[in-house]
Formats: sequence, structure tokens, C-alpha cells
Amino acid sequence: MLRSATTSKMPLHRRTPPFLKLIHASPFHTSAALKRPVAQTTTTAIHRKSLENQSEAPTSPQCLHRLPTSNLLRNLILGAWFSSPYLFQPGLSVMRTIANSKSVFLNPDANPLLGAAVKLFIYNHFCAGTNKREIDRTKAEIKRIGFEGIVLCYGRETGVGEIDGSKAGSQEQLKAEVGRWREGNLETLDMMDEGDWMGIKLTGAGPQVTKSLMRDEEPPAAWVDAMDRICEKAKARGCRIWIDSEQQVVQDGIDRWTVDLMSKYNVNGSVLVYNTLQAYLKSSRFKLNAQLAAAKQGGWTLAIKLVRGAYIDSDPRERIHDTKEDTDASYNGIVHDLLSGTNLDLPPEKLPKVELFLAGHNPASVGAAIDLMQTLSAAGKLKVKPTFAQLQGMADELGCSILQRADGLRENGAAMVPRVYKCLTWGSVQECMQYLLRRAVENSGGTARMKDGYAAYMGELRRRTAAVVRFRV
Ligand SMILES: Cc1cc2nc3c(=O)[nH]c(=O)nc-3n(C[C@H](O)[C@H](O)[C@H](O)COP(=O)(O)OP(=O)(O)OC[C@H]3O[C@@H](n4cnc5c(N)ncnc54)[C@H](O)[C@@H]3O)c2cc1C
Repeated sequence: MLRSATTSKMPLHRRTPPFLKLIHASPFHTSAALKRPVAQTTTTAIHRKSLENQSEAPTSPQCLHRLPTSNLLRNLILGAWFSSPYLFQPGLSVMRTIANSKSVFLNPDANPLLGAAVKLFIYNHFCAGTNKREIDRTKAEIKRIGFEGIVLCYGRETGVGEIDGSKAGSQEQLKAEVGRWREGNLETLDMMDEGDWMGIKLTGAGPQVTKSLMRDEEPPAAWVDAMDRICEKAKARGCRIWIDSEQQVVQDGIDRWTVDLMSKYNVNGSVLVYNTLQAYLKSSRFKLNAQLAAAKQGGWTLAIKLVRGAYIDSDPRERIHDTKEDTDASYNGIVHDLLSGTNLDLPPEKLPKVELFLAGHNPASVGAAIDLMQTLSAAGKLKVKPTFAQLQGMADELGCSILQRADGLRENGAAMVPRVYKCLTWGSVQECMQYLLRRAVENSGGTARMKDGYAAYMGELRRRTAAVVRFRV
């Protein structure tokens, strides 16, 4: 069992490497240091070239034949909303009010009319469902489209902005909150198939656990017991778990608790728990190297989900790369270096075993990663085979184009065919409101890409309409 604050003999901060304490004091914690030149290799050059050539070109409508028409129409309607300067901001303000309100009238779970409206207009596009029947239907559709499997996440989370980290709560409160979260995650596992992933948000365990994370304390015993039960059940069902990264105010604690889980469960060749690395952080390289060193020293597998980062609106701006280009370079550089095993603090032969999930909707990054995977594999130099994931309702055109490319590679007998998963969030409408708000904010920033996607969806709709008309006449 994972040792807890009350059961461990040695404090967690002495059992886990002190890298998290070092991050903010580190000389690398500057954008200049993170942009330090890396040794140029042939694959780096190929990767850079590949990135330069990968414009965010419109997706060919051909690959969209996989999508059901309902999905196509929702993409078009929401795309029109997200890219309208007149409709988007008022719509976003309404969503913010609903998500952050304490009023029963504005609670979509308590107000059936409001709940139905949110469900129809936005929830159904981005979320898997509120119960097993709805989730099974969404899951079957995702697998029919051709995705390898799903990552299922229970949407419950705690708004860290509302929490006063200095006030301790009662043990009863803690047990009740953790109990609800544990049951939600165990129920999530019941709805998954072998080979699927589960995504977990640690702040979902409630305000008391969130306070411990904010104070960077050891995990409470109730949380440790809950997490052990979740991990054991996931292992028994042949599923894996990724732990989401969240706001910086809780992230040091999340990293520390997750490293502890990886060191316990990612041993003897099996891999159960993934940590999330946010490439938009100036400290992302330092964190990566520190976790590689810890895994090497502890003899466990470092499993990483790489994302750019979703909290640019609320995280301290100075901790995030100064420009989008810097974040792109950070993400692409980490992909390159992990796939090739180069430019890391450890020499390639000394690296620990690494597993990698590339989560993101950026076509240039995904395209370049698939190219690099092929090049390195052909040269016998691929160190890590990445798996890809997109969020439900986001970048469907990208997911479809990777599936199309995978089909082509399979037909040509390629050794390395990309595996793609769709990440689904489930829960009551109110439980998923913060998640929906983040998706709306994220889409507002992707207008140029959305226009390309919109054109592709329109092209596919015209093709389907023409096919129906031809059939009728
Ligand atoms: C399956 C999946 C799981 C995810 N899990 C998590 C998670 O656990 N934690 C988390 O934080 N996020 C998570 N995300 C969200 C992710 O971090 C991004 O917000 C989102 O995917 C958009 O980034 P992108 O890689 O798709 O590329 P793009 O859309 O090309 O990049 C947008 C991102 O670039 C960065 N950026 C934008 N403008 C600037 C700027 N001016 N300066 C610096 N950086 C900038 C931001 O990170 C922004 O989100 C997840 C995404 C996916 C697909």
C-alpha cells in the first residue's frame, strides 16, 4: 500500500526526490536557460524541417467520412459560435456565471430547464454522458470511428480559487469528500474496457485534499487508501491511469504525489500511472530531467502525458513561456528528445524506461511526431513509441486524419502505426461546468485552426448532401 501521512515512517518529502523543491530555486527556471541550444542531430534537423513544412493546412474532407452526421452538425454550429465576435463573449460570460454560481436556480443539476439547455448546446458535444447508458453509447461511437480506445475521466473538480489553503477542515469532511471522489473513479473503471485509460483530477477529491496540495503536504491517509483501491482495480481490469496536471498553486503537490504513485506501481516492467508534464511552463525541461533522474535512481518507469497547458488564464504568467512560439518549441523539443533519447541530462544508454502519451490538438506537432517516429524507427533509433490523444469534441478533423494516416501506414506494412485515443469526460452537467468553460476558452484561442476545420466540415456536409440528392433523383 502507498504509505500515507499517518502510516509512513518517513515523511514523503524525504522519500521522494527533492526536485520539486528545487524547481523554483533552479537557475533553469528562466526562459533563457530553457531555450539553451541543444546539440544538433540529424533527427533534430529532420524534425525541424518537418515542422516548418507542416502548415496548419485545412484537413482534407475525405478523412471526415468517419464522423456521424450529428457530430458534423454540432462541430459546425459550435464552430460558428466560437468564431463569432458578437456571440462568443456573451455566451462565455453566461457559461462563467453558471459555472461559478452558488445559486440553486443557476445550478444545471437542480434547474431542469437550464440543465437541458446546457446539455443540448454544449455538454453533449464535449462530454460523454451523465450515466452508464449515455457513456456506453458515446464510447461505442468513438470506437466505431476507429479510435483505439478511450480515456475516461470523472469530471468532478474543485475550483482552487475558492479555497483558503490556510484553514484546515475536519477529518469527517475529508473522509466524506474523498469517499465521493473514490466512488466516482471506481464507477468510471466499471465503464471502461481492457486497454482503456482513466484520467484523474486530484482536486476532484475535494477541498480538504486540495488544501493539502496547495500546502504541498503529504497526502492524507484517506486519499492514499482511496488511490490504492483505484490503482488496484485499474490494474485488475487491464486499464491505465493518467493524473491530470492542474493550476500551479496545486501542481507541486500533484507532481510529488504522482511520482510516489509511479515509483510504487510502474515497476517490474508494468506501467500503471502517468504524470502530466505541461510544456508551457518554463520549468518543464527541468521537471522532465529531474523525473528521469528519479526514475533511473528508483528503477521504475517514467510515464508521461505531455500537454502544452490549459491554465494560461489563471496561472502566474511569469512561470509560463513568454510566447506561443516558445511553448511550441518547448513541446516539440521534448517530443523530439524523448523519441530519440537525445539532449536529455542522461546519456541515451543510461535513460530509464519511458512511456509517452502526446495529448494535443496542434496538427504541426502531431504530424512532426508521427514523421519522426517513422524516421527513427526505420533507423532503429526510436526510444519511445508515443500514443496520441485528443479531447472529445475537439479537433475531430485531426483525430480523423491521424486515423487515415494510420490506415495508410498499415496498408504499406509500416512497423510503426500511430495509436489514437479519444479522451472523454463524464459527470453531471454541474460537475462538468468548469471543464466545459476551459474548452470554450481554449476554442476561442484557436480561431484560425477552427476556420480550417469549419471549411473541412462544410465540405463533408456538402458531399453528404450531394450524395443524398443523387440517390433520390
Ligand atoms: C487529451 C488531452 C489531455 C489534456 N490534459 C491536460 C492536463 O492534464 N492539464 C493541462 O493543463 N492541460 C491539459 N490538456 C490541454 C492542453 O494543455 C492544451 O490546453 C490544449 O490541448 C491546447 O494545446 P495544443 O497542444 O492542442 O496546441 P495549441 O492549440 O497549438 O496550443 C495552445 C496552447 O499553447 C499555449 N499558449 C497559447 N498562447 C500562449 C502564449 N501567448 N504564450 C505561451 N503559451 C501559449 C497554451 O498552453 C495553450 O493552451 C489536455 C489536452 C488533451 C488533448
